[in-house]
Amino acid sequence: MAGSSYGDVHESARKLVGKVALITGGASGIGECTARLFVKHGAQVVVADIQDEAGARLCAELGSASYVRCDVTSEDDVAAAVDHAVARFGKLDVMFNNAGIGGAACHSILESTKADFDRVLAVNLTGPFLGTKHAARVMVAAGRGGCIIGTASLASAVAGAASHAYTCAKRALVGLTENAAAELGRHGIRVNCVSPAAAATPLATGYVGLEGEAFEAAMEAVANLKGVRLRVEDIAAAVLFLASDDARYVSGHNLLIDGGFSVVNPSFG
Ligand code: NAD
Repeated sequence: MAGSSYGDVHESARKLVGKVALITGGASGIGECTARLFVKHGAQVVVADIQDEAGARLCAELGSASYVRCDVTSEDDVAAAVDHAVARFGKLDVMFNNAGIGGAACHSILESTKADFDRVLAVNLTGPFLGTKHAARVMVAAGRGGCIIGTASLASAVAGAASHAYTCAKRALVGLTENAAAELGRHGIRVNCVSPAAAATPLATGYVGLEGEAFEAAMEAVANLKGVRLRVEDIAAAVLFLASDDARYVSGHNLLIDGGFSVVNPSFG
């Protein structure tokens, strides 16, 4: 992906040396960028996706990475992807439940369809539920703690930013994150999520219906933080923080990456 390459990270600055991470939706966008960053920081990474060609190509390029086909709506697939990480790299330290879809760009409940609602919930909520369940299965058994991170959205904090289905899924993902943090803390497992504003990925540009500069300009027009464009690298950096020992006492947190948008009332700007 253009713009998601990182310079070398000095060995002493690497934050995930010896860690094994599984990234769902790792073949594109935020997941791909995070896979690149994690490998730079010394992790071994399993990329789980339904885009086989892109996922396999990425893993071949990265080296310390392995691709597995996994539809996150299938419990068998998710369980197999987690088991693949353990079989291939010996353990699982970090689970990044990131796969998601935008669904139909439909803001009116009058026009929302049940089929779209169900599909968005299946991928964006049931997927992270299954990922959390099966990551916890191997992490609890191994007794070494671990870290589970979900990709929620600005829609988890702000109404009207996305469709009803997407907003419901992302808000519920925050609830899942908090509940899982409450249960799994006794096993030394931290559970957090990130909530980004819009960054140019196939999901976001497809949902908004704008590409390139037109997409960036539209996002900048509504942003609180002016002159700074949200990049997928900013989101990957936040995920790296949560995955690393820098966040060793952070759990049950929804990290907003929105330039302050969700806390600012536009009338006070
Ligand atoms: P993207 O389209 O670039 O990547 C999404 C990836 O998920 C793709 O590789 C896709 O193949 C995969 N995927 C879709 N359905 C799947 C399934 N059933 N099983 C396995 N993999 C599946 O989009 P992105 O923006 O990088 O999205 C990643 C996450 O970030 C999503 O959860 C999305 O909701 C969230 N998010 C994105 C933005 C944004 O502006 N880009 C903002 C907030 C949240």
